[in-house]
Amino acid sequence: MTDCIFCKIISGEVKSQIIYEDDFCVAFKDLNPQAPTHILIVPKKHIENIAAAGEDDALVLGKLQLAAAKIAKENNIKDFRLVANNGKGAGQSVMHLHYHLMAGRRFLWPAG
Ligand code: AMP
Repeated sequence: MTDCIFCKIISGEVKSQIIYEDDFCVAFKDLNPQAPTHILIVPKKHIENIAAAGEDDALVLGKLQLAAAKIAKENNIKDFRLVANNGKGAGQSVMHLHYHLMAGRRFLWPAG
């Protein structure tokens, strides 16, 4: 998608600190970190959010979560929070599906 910031990061048009990439997804450091470790894991395919995903996206959705586990393991992170905001009312500001992988501080529950 031409005006999507995450699509531009994936294509290399916009610079970011990419820390992981495979055939399905890219992971990079969040510009405005909310925890000592705050990584965004995004599918290479432009999908607006989880609600917009279809049956044919099942593989990529699974790959995103497996990438999160792999990134955590590679960085010796045992405890982490994996969050996907779905829709503006839930805090989604970038309309390209992404998981926030956050670690390195205590997290409250229920989430704020
Ligand atoms: P959300 O509010 O759940 O849609 O999360 C979007 C996240 O993208 C926020 O945490 C932003 O800080 C982050 N973000 C926006 N633009 C960039 C960028 N160019 N590079 C890295 N992170 C970004």
